[in-house]
Amino acid sequence: MARTTTIGVLALQGAFDLHRKALARLGVDYRLVKTAADFAVVDALIIPGGETTTMRWFLKNENLTDDLVRFVNEKPVMGTCAGMILLAKKVAGDIVDDGLGVIDIDVRRNAYGRQVHSHTGEGRIDLGEGPRSFPMVFIRAPRIERVGRDVQILGTCDDEPTMVAAGNVLVMSFHPELSGSDAVHEYFIQTFVKQFDSELPRTPAGGISQ
Ligand code: GLN
Repeated sequence: MARTTTIGVLALQGAFDLHRKALARLGVDYRLVKTAADFAVVDALIIPGGETTTMRWFLKNENLTDDLVRFVNEKPVMGTCAGMILLAKKVAGDIVDDGLGVIDIDVRRNAYGRQVHSHTGEGRIDLGEGPRSFPMVFIRAPRIERVGRDVQILGTCDDEPTMVAAGNVLVMSFHPELSGSDAVHEYFIQTFVKQFDSELPRTPAGGISQ
């Protein structure tokens, strides 16, 4: 009997619970990922927002860095905010540590200022049905400063890229779990997780031309 697809949510630190709730609303199987055994039984992973320095500390202390690296190089992964920073190639800003380099983008931590500068912007996304507006919640958000040639821009705000994808990786600088819509989670499942499952070519639908 075929096993149902299970989506993992990295739950070491940060805003993982609202991602879990979004997956529950969408009726998919999910599991909070806290141990190596959890990594072994999930088919895709969401890395939430939070604090990259703290997340790295937990990963190191729980001996999970290698499991994470292996996973994100092979399976569908969605990174939001701190999750995006962890997956990026180059990281600038305070306490700089480059990311895992699984998507060819450079980001700057806390580029929009401190907590008080957190805000909701009227962004635009194209998830394959044409561009439309989408509220984007930025919390001490990173800015995407460079996008590699093979990276597709799926969302923008104030003419800057805020959601991008390449291969098995979808990342965004905003918090989709706070947008009042499950559209981004649904897109990740439909476009990345399902395509990956059926081994179809992994080119995401949609995109805003660079
Ligand atoms: N400022 C955080 C960091 O640099 C990211 C903020 C977030 O995930 N909301 O890790």
